[in-house]
Amino acid sequence: MSESRRLFFALPLPTKLQKQVIQWRADSFEAEAGRPVAAANLHLTLAFLGDVSDAKARVLSGIASRITSPTFSLTLDDLGHWPRPGVVWLGTRRAPLALLQLASLLRSHAARNGCYQSTLPFHPHVSLLRGATRPVALPASTPEWQLDANEFSLYESQYHQGRTRYQCLQSWPLVASSPC
Ligand code: ATP
Ligand code: MG
Repeated sequence: MSESRRLFFALPLPTKLQKQVIQWRADSFEAEAGRPVAAANLHLTLAFLGDVSDAKARVLSGIASRITSPTFSLTLDDLGHWPRPGVVWLGTRRAPLALLQLASLLRSHAARNGCYQSTLPFHPHVSLLRGATRPVALPASTPEWQLDANEFSLYESQYHQGRTRYQCLQSWPLVASSPC
């Protein structure tokens, strides 16, 4: 029997942006607000696949390699708190169409290949704090960082000795539009 791995497609955050976000987070939230997500783990999930066999992972990565989707930029200018499941997140007030289309494509391919997809609408976000089940005092605004998406990746989520770590298995470029 083949082993299964917990996989998801996501946009990575560049290292410089990771550093800016964690510095701002340290300055903006009380330590009791929640468990800070490690800098290297900051990401924006496009499609969650769940536990997937190696064979299915190969099919889905083959599909991902044939996607031609344009590059896009989004502004991280929204902030919110979901008491359940206990997440404080950074999001965007104006999700670019290319982001919504890429997520929708990946989610529909995932569903067609038997990966359950939540019926909740896609809400692009970067989780900042987990375990934030109590009321949280949110800062009034965010620094409005820009995230330039040039690629998307397939990650494996590994939980070991009380820590979640993501391993990037593969990345695919988004396609820069050519000048007219
Ligand atoms: P942990 O669960 O160990 O606290 P985590 O939530 O970051 O950490 P995973 O549960 O493996 O790790 O999730 C990986 C990514 O997929 C995260 O961005 C998470 O928010 C997202 N995710 C997890 N479960 C679902 C789901 N059922 N539907 C949509 N996205 C999900
Ligand atoms: Mg989780």
